[in-house]
Amino acid sequence: MSVSSLPKYDFIQHQDEYINKEYGHLDGVELLNVVLKELFVGRVAATTSFGTESAVLLAMIAKVDKHTPVIFIDTGKHFSLTHDYRQQLTQFLGLSNIQVVAPKAENIDRLDPKGDLNQRDADLCCNLRKVEPLDRVITGYDAWITGRKRYHGDERTKLQSIETVNGQSKINPLAGWGKTEIDRAFAQWKLPRHPLEKRGFPSVGCQPCTNAASCGGGLRDGRWRGSNKTECGIHKPRSNRVIPLIVK
Ligand code: SF4
Repeated sequence: MSVSSLPKYDFIQHQDEYINKEYGHLDGVELLNVVLKELFVGRVAATTSFGTESAVLLAMIAKVDKHTPVIFIDTGKHFSLTHDYRQQLTQFLGLSNIQVVAPKAENIDRLDPKGDLNQRDADLCCNLRKVEPLDRVITGYDAWITGRKRYHGDERTKLQSIETVNGQSKINPLAGWGKTEIDRAFAQWKLPRHPLEKRGFPSVGCQPCTNAASCGGGLRDGRWRGSNKTECGIHKPRSNRVIPLIVK
C-alpha cells in the first residue's frame, strides 16, 4: 500500500516516521525551518503561555517566519504581568500573528460562575478554560509546535522532537534542551525575561495555580502545588479526556 492511500491516521504515522528518519536529528531553528518552510507550509501553528521560557521558542519562530500563527489561551486567570509580558515580547520579536483564544462565556456561566472552580475541580477548570478553547483552533492545523522539554520532568521526560497525538503531528524543537541551553539563548538573543521570574517563579501559569519556587523543587514544582496534577491536559490524547457539560 502506498503512503498516500493509507487512512489519514496511518498516513500521519508514516509521515512522522519519515520526518523522524529524515529530520529527527534536528532541533531548534533548524527543525523549525524544515517544519515551517518545507513540511507544513501554512498548515502549522505554535502555542505559547508567555511563561518564563516561552521567549526562546518564540524567538526561533520569529527568525524563521514572523507570520507563523501563535496561539495564546487567555484563561481569564493569568497574572496581569503575563499580559504585559505578552505585549512586550510580541513587539520585541515582531511576531505578527498572535491568536488569542478564550473560554466560552456560556461555559463560564454554567460551570464557574464564581470563578473558584480551580479550587474544587482543577481538571474541569483546565478543560473549561484551556483544553476546549485550544481544541477549537488547533484542530484546524496539521501540525502543532510546542515548547515542551524533557528536563521539565514528569510526563515530559520521554518527549520526542516529533510525535503524533490525536492524529496530528506535534513538533517539539526544544525537547532535548536543558536550563543551560535556555539561559544561553536568552543571553545570546538578549531576550526579555518574564517579570515574575526574578520574584522567584521558575514557571508561570494561571495565577491561582502558580506558586513561587520551593527549596529543592523542580522547574514546575510551583504549579498546582499540593495536588497530583502536573499538566493542564491540552497535550493529552483526546480519547482520555472527560469534558462533561461543556459547550463546544
Ligand atoms: S491552571 Fe488553574 S486556573 Fe488555570 S485553567 Fe487550570 S485549574 Fe483553572
